[in-house]
Amino acid sequence: MSKKFVYLFKEGNATMRELLGGKGANLAEMTAIGLPVPQGFTVTTEACTQYYEDGRKINDEIKAEILENITKMEEITGKKFGDKENPLLVSVRSGARASMPGMMDTILNLGLNEEVVETMAAMSGNARWAYDCYRRFIQMYSDVVMEVGKKYFEELIDKMKEEKGVTQDVELTAEDLKVLAEQFKAEYKNKIGKDFPTDPVEQLMGAVEAVFRSWDNPRANVYRRDNDIPYSWGTAVNVQMMAFGNMGDDCGTGVAFTRDPATGDKGLMGEFLTNAQGEDVVAGVRTPMPIAEMANKFPEAFAEFKKVCAILEDHYRDMQDMEFTVEHGKLFMLQTRHGKRTAKAALKIACDLVDEGMIDKKQAVAMIDPRNLDTLLHPQFDAKALKAAAPAGRGLGASPGAACGKVVFTAEDAEAWNARGEKVVLVRLETSPEDITGMKASQGILTVRGGMTSHAAVVARGMGKCCVSGCGEIKMDEENKKFELAGKTYTEGDFISIDGSTGRIYDGIIPTVDAEISGNFGTIMGWADKYRRLKVRTNADTPSDAKKARELGAEGIGLCRTEHMFFGEGRIDAFREMI
Ligand code: ADP
Ligand code: MG
Repeated sequence: MSKKFVYLFKEGNATMRELLGGKGANLAEMTAIGLPVPQGFTVTTEACTQYYEDGRKINDEIKAEILENITKMEEITGKKFGDKENPLLVSVRSGARASMPGMMDTILNLGLNEEVVETMAAMSGNARWAYDCYRRFIQMYSDVVMEVGKKYFEELIDKMKEEKGVTQDVELTAEDLKVLAEQFKAEYKNKIGKDFPTDPVEQLMGAVEAVFRSWDNPRANVYRRDNDIPYSWGTAVNVQMMAFGNMGDDCGTGVAFTRDPATGDKGLMGEFLTNAQGEDVVAGVRTPMPIAEMANKFPEAFAEFKKVCAILEDHYRDMQDMEFTVEHGKLFMLQTRHGKRTAKAALKIACDLVDEGMIDKKQAVAMIDPRNLDTLLHPQFDAKALKAAAPAGRGLGASPGAACGKVVFTAEDAEAWNARGEKVVLVRLETSPEDITGMKASQGILTVRGGMTSHAAVVARGMGKCCVSGCGEIKMDEENKKFELAGKTYTEGDFISIDGSTGRIYDGIIPTVDAEISGNFGTIMGWADKYRRLKVRTNADTPSDAKKARELGAEGIGLCRTEHMFFGEGRIDAFREMI
């Protein structure tokens, strides 16, 4: 028997992460424990490796296995791929072993063409939904598979909105969306020189290949380097039946954490949008509602969601980060993973889980990513200076810590200014994964759009970098590198201070001070001391360094570099004289 390259969700489980990727393994696990997951299958990471070994080609054996599994999916769902009356539409989603939020590509509503969409519109009596799916599919497919830039399509959407005098995508009618879909296809033909593919199988193979290819894209490579993820792992591809959050006001989509990823406080934290598809929430296109409001919009789905959250936490024994969709009031789970969190939240969650009897102390210590603790040593604003300062505006406290620096407007500028020793704060309408190196080069990030789960927020938290997101009060003019806030115009190089814990934004410079170590940090370090076998000594050359190191728990001096002692003011001259 040759190697198996494709697994139905019901054939897998959480331990198969290496083969199925994190997303696929957890979709399988959620299926296994009886949670409502739209069914599908995972093409393995080994298929990705094979794709690269075969010179970037999906070989016939793998193609045949994918098609066999489409047939199995048709049996499970009772729908048919490419069928007019009862079409099976799928999402094609990347999923590596380690989570790489937003680094690779996803395509939704695959399987649509002119004929299918028309029948779907007529039979459902919901033409708006049908054409909304269609235009999204054309846009994502063009972008991800054929690399026609997203922006061409966004420009067409913006033009349409302007013509119709509306500001939100949801205000566009079925007819508007139908026209848009036509414009999109024309744009595709214009850029690619061929008609948009109508054969669902061709669409599917194109999409699977694009996900494999995305493993090697520049932003994925940068993310991998930063997070020590080996290139050789490859990504899996998940093909999953669509759940529709865009069928009307009794539908929606959202993302949520079982505990607050910034503070660690117990309780649901998240955001959702009605009449929307997944990407809308994370892309920051519309500003989402807090999850608590879901209780009013979809009481039943919300009650079920709360149950699912409890089951998942109990099952995984850790804080979960989930994606879900509500279709006509019914809940569907689309993803779960251990949630990324700030160092502060990591410590609180670990301590709370011990208190709740979910894990033991040893597990609590092992749960803490040591690299992450470093963020606890990040600066906060000087309390006195802060008292005297009045905020100029407020966004969402998306990633804690305080930052002060000169305003720059592009990731490139952030890098360039940083390289010449300037401290900068990157101010953007919203960040996209391409901005990642610029974000790294900044003291902090400020965005006009996007919520707590926008990519800016997620990536900043991962980096331990201060971020304020979704400050809608800012009137942005990215083109001319300026913005307006509280009646003042800021241009490149002006000083600004932001607080990623409170979301407050201040004009000018506010001095920062080092953070203190106490509370949960002390508790966890105490447990760590109990189990550790290594001793920790410090690398210190001055009395003040040595004192600081003692405060932080060092047990002695490991390395003392005499030349640093000689550099001291009042010593260097004497030393030179001696030589
Ligand atoms: P990422 O890894 O960037 O989060 P995902 O594969 O999770 O990408 O997909 C992006 C968005 O599309 C998610 O918000 C998810 O909720 C939505 N989505 C993916 N598959 C489906 C599906 N089968 N039905 C409905 N929404 C989906
Ligand atoms: Mg996701």
